[in-house]
Amino acid sequence: MDDTCIFCSIDRETLAENELAFAILDRFPAATGHSLVIPRRHVLTMDELTGEEALALFALIRQVKTLLRERFGPDGFNIGINEGEAAGQTVMHLHIHIIPRTRGDVENPRGGIRKVLPCRRRYRHGEGPA
Ligand code: AMP
Ligand code: ZN
Repeated sequence: MDDTCIFCSIDRETLAENELAFAILDRFPAATGHSLVIPRRHVLTMDELTGEEALALFALIRQVKTLLRERFGPDGFNIGINEGEAAGQTVMHLHIHIIPRTRGDVENPRGGIRKVLPCRRRYRHGEGPA
């Protein structure tokens, strides 16, 4: 528990939870239904998780996907972790983003989270940097 951490003292309604992890809707959603799956214990990186916590997080990811499918009917998901400031992490308590996606929400979705570095996003054989 870190008193200065928003995810240690979150006041939002949980979407789903288990003994070691909980899920909430993101306060500033990147897409409708954007959710966060968060270990109860304050850890910064995946490496600090126990095996039990990792399994609990994975189980909750699956549960949240089912919930989001029922609630929002997305066509796909981006699921990912920003780990470390260099990778864009702003809340220093590990969390997994689950971002529902809808066909047509961007012009060309190909590459998905590969596009975090726009200059390196192409990967089809024979294609150079974008
Ligand atoms: P990251 O930049 O990967 O550390 O992600 C932090 C996420 O937490 C962002 O998607 C924020 O929109 C979200 N966020 C920040 N404050 C809150 C909050 N009080 N409740 C829910 N989500 C939050
Ligand atoms: Zn915390």
